[in-house]
Amino acid sequence: MPELRRDPIVGRWVIISTERSRRPSDFKPEPVVVRATSCVFCPGHEDKTPPEILALRLPGSAPNTPGWSLRVVANKFPALRIEGDLAPSGEGLFDRMNGVGAHEVVIETPDHTASLATLPADAVADVLLAYRERLSDLKKDPRFEYVLVFKNHGEAAGASLEHPHSQLIATPIIPIMVSEELSGSAQYFQMKERCVWCDVVRQERRSGHRMIVEAHGFAALAPFAPRFPFETWILPTRHRSAFEDSDVDELRGLAEVLGTVLRRLNRVLEGPPFNFMLHTAPLREPALEHFHWHLEVIPKLTRVAGFEWGSGFFINPMLPEDAAAALREEAE
Ligand code: ZN
Ligand code: ZN
Repeated sequence: MPELRRDPIVGRWVIISTERSRRPSDFKPEPVVVRATSCVFCPGHEDKTPPEILALRLPGSAPNTPGWSLRVVANKFPALRIEGDLAPSGEGLFDRMNGVGAHEVVIETPDHTASLATLPADAVADVLLAYRERLSDLKKDPRFEYVLVFKNHGEAAGASLEHPHSQLIATPIIPIMVSEELSGSAQYFQMKERCVWCDVVRQERRSGHRMIVEAHGFAALAPFAPRFPFETWILPTRHRSAFEDSDVDELRGLAEVLGTVLRRLNRVLEGPPFNFMLHTAPLREPALEHFHWHLEVIPKLTRVAGFEWGSGFFINPMLPEDAAAALREEAE
């Protein structure tokens, strides 16, 4: 019997179609393969990207030359432009404003063939520290309300370059996915005076069915009502609303758990394409009692089609309990 499940945060219902239930090996994602040996993000090609905004470099190496272990550059084809005023205006009942924002690329390593799953935890922590640094810096720009950090890994997940990289886009608007989480979690807090994500961690820890790993102050779990097979949330086990307030030790802990999750997904699903998205509190919010930052990791295994587009229901062919069990069994 298929089952309808409701996400306790945004209230979204999903259909867990157990009749179509599949084993991990039944998913045949197009494995992410590295074809080229070099690209515009590789060392020696620094002049092919916009100048670096941030870099981790060997002492004495000049900006925009080799000698770096991580670079952040502006996206050459930005979705939004850094220059200009918002100049909001109306056209009858319609709102518009200039497409002002920031679109940056975090080149995670000089090694074209590496990945966050294969890099040492220290290097993954450097990537997370770069996110923190860029978030804190973009926060100073009063035009921006939000910074979304995300990663597209593999062509099927939207990556146009195979060199390991993630991106961030600062926007003058709070994205609708985040505002739904904000209002849903505020409602929950109003009723229970507790953070819904803190409650989720407590309950999943107790039951164990959907917990994948808990270590270094972070939990990785399969949500109760996931939209997609193997959807995984990683969140700090202590209440935190703003990612950029994390200290170095916390980000090292996240690096360990993120690396673990990605390696296990790679083993169970044979190197799938995936996306991850960081949901943190909006830039202008003080520390929030009801919002809890988290990273959503979504392997690209299914297609979104007419029913999903039309209804907002997602059909997930895999029980999250089974996905979590498969990922737990892959313990290193
Ligand atoms: Zn490259
Ligand atoms: Zn919390």
